[in-house]
Amino acid sequence: MEQIENMLAGAGIKPTAIRIMVMREIIAYNHPFTLADMEGWLATVDKSTLFRTLTLFLERKLLHDVDNGSGSRIYCKCECASMHTSHIHFTCTLCGQTFCIKDIDTSIVPHPEGFVVKESSLVMKGLCPECAKREL
Ligand SMILES: [Zn+2]
Ligand SMILES: [Zn+2]
Ligand SMILES: [Zn+2]
Repeated sequence: MEQIENMLAGAGIKPTAIRIMVMREIIAYNHPFTLADMEGWLATVDKSTLFRTLTLFLERKLLHDVDNGSGSRIYCKCECASMHTSHIHFTCTLCGQTFCIKDIDTSIVPHPEGFVVKESSLVMKGLCPECAKREL
């Protein structure tokens, strides 16, 4: 609880009760999520408040957003040590879950000379280990 307050304060966010609740859910789930997921977890909180809170967390770099082409924004908790560059994500086309692949450094991906990469969003699609097992 206090840890979350410190995290929010450190990002320049006033730690209100709602914001602490939202961050607590994000940490507890420990997996990429959508606004709809958050609405399910905190059903008593106004939807637009939840959206604004997530947008604020995103702006203050406490979250990453993942665009996997599904149309719904997916969020995951930022655990960047220094540079806020997005890690790779993997979306399973069978169960629809998105996974953070944090141990692959996206800066290894080559880019054309003269271009300066500020952020990158790499999404791989296919089958997660569970679904791959079921397919066999
Ligand atoms: Zn980050
Ligand atoms: Zn799957
Ligand atoms: Zn992620």
